[in-house]
This record gives sequence, C-alpha cells and structure tokens, in this order.
Amino acid sequence: MADIKKCSFCGKPETRVANLFTAGDNHICDECVLFCYDILERQNNSSGKTQAKVKEIKKDNGSKIKLVKPTDIKKVLDEYVIGQDEAKIALSVAVYNHYKRILSIDDDDDDVEIQKSNVLLLGPTGTGKTLLAQTLARLLNVPFAIADATTLTEAGYVGDDVENVLTRLIQAAGYDVEAAQRGIIYIDEIDKISRKSENTSITRDVSGEGVQQALLKIVEGTVSNVPPQGGRKHPQQQFIQIDTKNILFICGGAFEGLESVIKKRTDSSSLGFGGNIKDKKNDKDVLKKVVPHDLVKFGIVPELVGRLPIITVLDELDEDALCRILTEPKNSLIKQYTKLFKMDGIEFTVTEDAMKAIAKKTIEQKTGARGLRAIVEGILTKIMFEAPADKSIVSITINEDCVNGDAEPEIVRGKRKSA
Ligand code: ADP
Repeated sequence: MADIKKCSFCGKPETRVANLFTAGDNHICDECVLFCYDILERQNNSSGKTQAKVKEIKKDNGSKIKLVKPTDIKKVLDEYVIGQDEAKIALSVAVYNHYKRILSIDDDDDDVEIQKSNVLLLGPTGTGKTLLAQTLARLLNVPFAIADATTLTEAGYVGDDVENVLTRLIQAAGYDVEAAQRGIIYIDEIDKISRKSENTSITRDVSGEGVQQALLKIVEGTVSNVPPQGGRKHPQQQFIQIDTKNILFICGGAFEGLESVIKKRTDSSSLGFGGNIKDKKNDKDVLKKVVPHDLVKFGIVPELVGRLPIITVLDELDEDALCRILTEPKNSLIKQYTKLFKMDGIEFTVTEDAMKAIAKKTIEQKTGARGLRAIVEGILTKIMFEAPADKSIVSITINEDCVNGDAEPEIVRGKRKSA
C-alpha cells in the first residue's frame, strides 16, 4: 500500500485534511498553515509590522478603532492618488490625530481636550479631493458618505436637508449608529454656498449662509435626530439619534476667485505697474498662501472656517501627472481596460505618445483627471464593440494618431490565446 502522507506539524494524515502542501519529504496541512498565519498576524500586530501596521484597539463597547500611523496612511494614499503630497500629508496627520482624539475621550487623566481636526481641501475640479477622502475611508474601514453642498438646504426648504447627510452616513454603516458616529463625511463644493452666492430671495436663504449655519452645527458636534430613510421630517416619524462630535468632516471646493482675495492681501504690488505679469506667473502658488481670513472674505462664515482648522491645497494636474494617473494607480484606467481586453484574450497597449496626447486633450477640457475616462472611452468604444466578435484579433494598440482621431487602433490578427 502506498505511504499515506502526514502533516509534519500535527501528524494528521492527508485523508483527514482538505489540503496538504509538500516540499521534499516535509508536509504541512491547511489547518497548520492557518494556525501559523494566525500566530504571525498576532506577532506582527504587536510589533507593528503588519502590512498597514494597523493597531486595533478594542474599546469597552466592543467597537474597534484602527489607529494607523500617518506614514502608513500616506503609503496607502500613494497607491491610489498620484501627486498631491502636501494634501496627503495633511490628511494623514489629521486623520491620525482625529482617531487618537476619539481614543483619548474616555481618558480622564488630564483636562487636555483635543479638538477635532476637520479638513478643508482646496483645489481645482478633478484633482483628487473626493478620491483622497474615499481612499481614506476605505483604508480606515469606517463608514463614508459624500454630500454635495450645492444640493443642501436648510431644513424645511425644497432640497436636501443638511441632516440627510447624516442619514446617508448611517446607511453606509448598515444602520450601525455606533460606527457611523466615527465615520467620515466628505462635503464637496463647499465654496458654492458662500455668502456672496447670488441669492435673490430676501425671505429665505436656501443655498448660502443658512446652509452654512446648518452645516456648522453638525460639523462642530451635535446630537441630531435624523429620519432613517432620509427625506423630509414629519411628526409621526421615528428618528435615529446620532452624535456628530466624532465624525470627521472633510470639505472640498475649487474656490474660484479666492486667488484674487489672497492677492489683494499679500501683494500690494499687484496694484502697481507690472503687477499683473508677475501675478500670472505665480498664480499656481497663490492659493498656497491662503489663511483662514481669506475664506471669510470669500464668503464662508467665520465659525465654519474656525471648524475647519486644517487647510490644504491640491495642485492642478499637469501632463506628466495625468499620464501617471492613466497607468500607475492600483485601479488605473489603462489597467482596467487591459483587464477587460484580456478577458477576451486580446493584448491591449497604449503607447507613451498616445498617453501624452490623451493628457493634453484632458488639460484642454479643464476637467482634471475626471475627463480622462470619457476620452479613453471615446477612443475605445468602437473597438470594444467589435473586438469580442472578431476572433482573429490578438492585439490592439492605441497610438497618438488614434487619440487625435486620425487613425484607427492598430490591430494585429492571428490565432488568439484562450482567455
Ligand atoms: P475632485 O477633486 O473634483 O473631487 P475627484 O477626486 O472626484 O476630483 O477625481 C475624479 C476622478 O479623477 C477620480 O475618480 C480619479 O479617477 C481621478 N483622479 C483625480 N485626481 C487624481 C489623482 N491625483 N490621482 C489619481 N486619480 C485621480
């Protein structure tokens, strides 16, 4: 009878385990592999060596908070977001301090109360503001909700009550209010609810200061009663109570026109001869000189500005950054399309010149990286329609002419490898 192999660790015969791995004369069963993995995980956790160096701190109520070091947060952000180092560093520190603050709340050792570190991201559209917030939430494994400030109104007006943002967060947490209370809310287009926004009505303020005041309440921390399904509140409804004091708010906006506010403050020479020429050159860096008072001048109420203590500026994406965005992030567009074609057994290539041409087109559209997808889709739709049915296609190459509409994608035919 042939020898029955046994796990060299636990001695179980191969007939009693699901998997037995062999190296020479030695064997290990699946259960022992898992057991070893478990030990390693625990060791690594305590010495801080796990992949993301995640330290899970169990609080008394059983809920878990992940405390991830700023350098590790940035590493993960780097995998998904190209450039924007300054914003990444500011966010990493803010998030780290935020969760340290939550952990210290039950600490009665001293009277030092750590304030919330909500963040304001300034930067043109499509530069990665939402992506940064989204990636953060995913990495921290906390509930995340996005709201567009322009759709928000004060309670009672037509539109989205500010409190509905909280409903969305509770929904994202699967109605686990405890988890939602430690979540992250990203409020986009915060600049569009500035006081100076055109508002002809004198009896109500549906998209300006009123909304800012309503936002202020939840940003600074309040116990709010929210309808579980969102929508309008009505008297017979059951409410969920949510405390917002530990929710991290990240606000974002392009703040068009803020440069001139900053310039007025910083550069008296802009009023004199030659000022304009110099200003044009420095336009990019002007935003970086922003101070809270500039935001008040722009039309954000001082109390709200005060609640967004961390202000960071995102860079406009240049050709090089856009090319990197096409290829480098974990789920970059090119990687996605390569995978899609590979499923049909087709090799897919985009030449460097083509990428540069795509980046140039995107810059012309002034939509930041947001425009990349539409341009690539435009180039590929026809071939993605035809290729699956044409079994002779083995590879497709997109070159510069193809991006500029002067040529069709280069196609090589032959015998296709099975997908
Ligand atoms: P906004 O700054 O307007 O919030 P988003 O974060 O929504 O921009 O970006 C839109 C899309 O563009 C994202 O989903 C992402 O695919 C891409 N993108 C934008 N900026 C970057 C970046 N810095 N790195 C990688 N991808 C980016």
